[in-house]
Amino acid sequence: MARLVMKFGGTSVADIDRIRNVARHVKREVAAGHEVAVVVSAMAGTTNTLVDWCREAASLHDAREYDAVVASGEQVSAGLLAITLESMGVNARSWQGWQLPILTSDAHGAARILEVNGAELIKRFKSRGQVAVIAGFQGVHQETGRITTLGRGGSDTSAVAIAAAINADRCDIYTDVDGVYTTDPRVVSKARRLDKIAYEEMLELASLGAKVLQVRSVELGMVHNVRIFVRSSFDAPERIDPNAGPPGTLICGEEEIVEQQVVTGIAFSKDEAQISIRRVADKPGVAAAIFGPLADASINVDMIVQNVSADGATTDLTFTVPAADYERATSVLAAAKGKIGYERLDGATDVAKVSVIGVGMRSHAGVAARAFKALAENRINIRAITTSEIKFSLLIDANYTELAVRTLHSLYELDR
Ligand code: ASP
Ligand code: MG
Repeated sequence: MARLVMKFGGTSVADIDRIRNVARHVKREVAAGHEVAVVVSAMAGTTNTLVDWCREAASLHDAREYDAVVASGEQVSAGLLAITLESMGVNARSWQGWQLPILTSDAHGAARILEVNGAELIKRFKSRGQVAVIAGFQGVHQETGRITTLGRGGSDTSAVAIAAAINADRCDIYTDVDGVYTTDPRVVSKARRLDKIAYEEMLELASLGAKVLQVRSVELGMVHNVRIFVRSSFDAPERIDPNAGPPGTLICGEEEIVEQQVVTGIAFSKDEAQISIRRVADKPGVAAAIFGPLADASINVDMIVQNVSADGATTDLTFTVPAADYERATSVLAAAKGKIGYERLDGATDVAKVSVIGVGMRSHAGVAARAFKALAENRINIRAITTSEIKFSLLIDANYTELAVRTLHSLYELDR
């Protein structure tokens, strides 16, 4: 017997037929003798509609009321799944965030989970074999008692937090893909599904735009050591043997991964823009003068490369921002030109960032050097490079993205 959290996203509960399909997945695990807590998202498209309604009602609105509105989507799907389970003879009860409770900060619209009380759920597993169906995405602020939401995609984070609270053996994330891949299979047909990936690697992948999981859910999983299993909700529920390993990807601690590859995956993003500031003074306070105003404008800066000046007087500084923020970033910098002091701004929006990820890099030398050689052989120019312990990122011309990703994918023996 195991204790499981099963999380289903919006497409998996898009209509009553699909909710029935979800209920069959749940029934299978219950029949196998497992204790089950289910976490659901709102039915596909519902949250977008609710957000749009808030905006339509007033473009500037109170975040507490936004939460009151958008949290309702999950209330509906949780109730519907509980009804469906009951109709199939499975004892089930729905729970909203405030009922457990799931206590959060008061940052409405982007609240952080502080504490989850799973005691009542465990009591009901034991005394009645009852399945808990929990509304994802929402919680409650303790002092005010107001409903909060966790930010878009937040029901992944709800699921992992609940798994930690009830000490679940596994947190299964059922979604519309069947796992985490070495890279985007739409770009590299030879991309492979990974059996396992370490938390840290998944964090990098998720931060770099792999949309499988909300980044915070992976952080939380890492802190509480929750084994997260990404799998497809479209597999026929009855064809899965609950005691055998179904297809999917396990996100877990490094120590659980026996055959560690040097490189685990390759991520890329074309939504990048490069800004180069030419001939800025090489003196204390200049970086602060540049990045302070950008931070104030809530512009996320990613790769930062600064050279050591040759003459001791001026240097060049290059960094990337999301392409959508490019215009805003350049006007912020133009406005601050007097304070910063530079000769000119150069920019490019037709750039892409390609990142190579793997915890194995910690113990292997020359991993990046091989990439430089392989890209050179394909005549791909590298504009900027940044590295960390388990990742390096290369900024290249956007036209070469696919070629670069494919080249690196086979270079590091990730091809199927
Ligand atoms: N329904 C919410 C959203 O669309 C939360 C989630 O699906 O995870 O963002
Ligand atoms: Mg999601």
